[in-house]
Amino acid sequence: MAEVNRVVVVTGASHGIGSAIALRFGAPGTGLVLTYRQRRAGAEAVAAQLRDAGAESLVLAVDVRSRADVERMVEATLARFGRIDVLVNNAGIYPRAPLLELSEALWDEVLGTNLKGSFLCAQAVARAMIAGGVRGKIVNISSIEGVLTATGMLAYDVSKAGVLMLTRNLALELGPYGINVNCVAPGLIDAPDLSRNAPVLHQTYLQQAVFGLGSGADVADACLFLASDAARWITGQTLFVDGGMLVAPYYGSPEPPRRSG
Ligand code: NDP
Repeated sequence: MAEVNRVVVVTGASHGIGSAIALRFGAPGTGLVLTYRQRRAGAEAVAAQLRDAGAESLVLAVDVRSRADVERMVEATLARFGRIDVLVNNAGIYPRAPLLELSEALWDEVLGTNLKGSFLCAQAVARAMIAGGVRGKIVNISSIEGVLTATGMLAYDVSKAGVLMLTRNLALELGPYGINVNCVAPGLIDAPDLSRNAPVLHQTYLQQAVFGLGSGADVADACLFLASDAARWITGQTLFVDGGMLVAPYYGSPEPPRRSG
């Protein structure tokens, strides 16, 4: 068994924000569990970068909708590293489907991945933390769409609103075991194809959010804080990491007021 001083599980670490989170936690002496659903090569590339940073990785195929997969994830982590200190529930999907075209299958897929998946992972990891006497940290990834509507995003928005309440209830029930549970709710994160795939969203965000678009690293830094001892007295909270989108003015220019004189 590898000797590491901190073990961090990041779901959906093969791409996007999950990769950035895993890399941010990758200090020497850390054991990272990187899960993916389809993009094994992406997770392996993150593992290679982590190796260069002095961290060890375990790459696992996990469908977070499956209790059997999630339990295998916990067993494999304990077999390799012996403990779990941190879980980041990041895996998620955001397909667009207007209400009148939203199929039951897609509803189930989105809620199953984003909400049930976070529940299954939190429950299985919390059991391992408690059995091991670990006063661990769980960080759930929601979205500003947990509190804002977006056309065609009913299933997603409901799933991410659910993650906010999941966080509060987990915090309540896991507090007695010394486990902190918090949530990071990102705003729009820049991606290479974003302006082409979602030009209106891209432009609107740039115009309205105080600091424009974010990066995976912006989300990762918030996760690192909430998983650190600096956040020891914080639980059940949601940190909106959105470049100021939620303070965008209802009307008027988002430009700062001009100085006179
Ligand atoms: P990506 O599509 O880039 O990556 C999603 C990750 O989740 C991949 O690693 C994917 O695995 C994994 N995944 C998808 N479905 C499953 C599943 N059923 N079981 C296990 N893993 C799965 O997403 P983002 O990086 O953009 O988003 C990450 C999180 O951040 C999500 O929860 C999302 O809702 C949230 N978020 C994103 C924002 C953004 O602007 N991008 C804004 C606000 C919140 P694989 O690729 O291997 O199949």
